[in-house]
Amino acid sequence: MTRQAAPYRAGRVFLAGDSAHVHYPAGGQGLSLGVQDAVNLGWKLAQVVHGTSVTLLDTYQDERHPVAARALQHTMAQGVLQRPDERIKALVDMVSELAVMDEPRKRLAGLISGLDIHYDLGEGHPLLGRRMPDLDLVTSDGPRRVFTLLHDAKPVLLNLAGSGDIDITPWADRVQLMEAEYVGLWELPVLGAVTAPAAVLIRPDGYVAWVGDGTDTGLRDALTSWFGTP
Ligand SMILES: Cc1cc2nc3c(=O)[nH]c(=O)nc-3n(C[C@H](O)[C@H](O)[C@H](O)COP(=O)(O)OP(=O)(O)OC[C@H]3O[C@@H](n4cnc5c(N)ncnc54)[C@H](O)[C@@H]3O)c2cc1C
Repeated sequence: MTRQAAPYRAGRVFLAGDSAHVHYPAGGQGLSLGVQDAVNLGWKLAQVVHGTSVTLLDTYQDERHPVAARALQHTMAQGVLQRPDERIKALVDMVSELAVMDEPRKRLAGLISGLDIHYDLGEGHPLLGRRMPDLDLVTSDGPRRVFTLLHDAKPVLLNLAGSGDIDITPWADRVQLMEAEYVGLWELPVLGAVTAPAAVLIRPDGYVAWVGDGTDTGLRDALTSWFGTP
């Protein structure tokens, strides 16, 4: 019953959710996989309708196909562990022993929840290509949670460095610029603590498309490739 479509796209037809991948329901991953496919694709379709290069749509397959392939592999393994067989029971006992240890437990939780997903957006800060944590920010309008900034499904450039040297005027119609402060620890699921970034560009699906180190190096390219030419 484990199947995955090879291409997720044929011309104007896209596959998402169970039409793209079906698997044994162990781990309860099917629904969130499908919702994340749709969220990954939805904002890209909207961008292309509004003028971003059509090549943006290729990133749907690039990002989502490996995620489902890994979930399928994991559910196949879980399916094996449920077979009524003495040898499999011995394997279950071994896996159970490992699963109570901190590191394997963190890894398994990251895998099943999808919180460890890392889209390959190139080298750089560990946040790049990962889901932005839902931090408690302090803004000029008062306290805000990061995810509330995404309610309008518009990208957000979060400037955390306290300097006004990030200029996105040519993209101001599409990208929200938010000056904010965050004083806590930057911690990512599975990875743990990471260096605090000076700025982050967050896609409408909550994934980080660019990380600033105090300069705007690479920002223009990231804005252009994800959100179109100025
Ligand atoms: C027994 C079981 C237990 C599960 N447990 C979990 C769980 O605990 N957690 C979890 O995350 N996932 C679980 N899943 C998986 C989850 O249900 C699916 O991954 C999820 O429902 C897929 O959503 P979808 O929208 O892609 O497809 P579907 O939910 O299948 O929705 C497709 C819809 O399209 C409709 N449709 C089909 N053809 C047409 C047509 N020609 N025209 C119009 N409409 C059409 C169908 O009627 C259906 O309503 C389980 C699945 C099963 C079978």
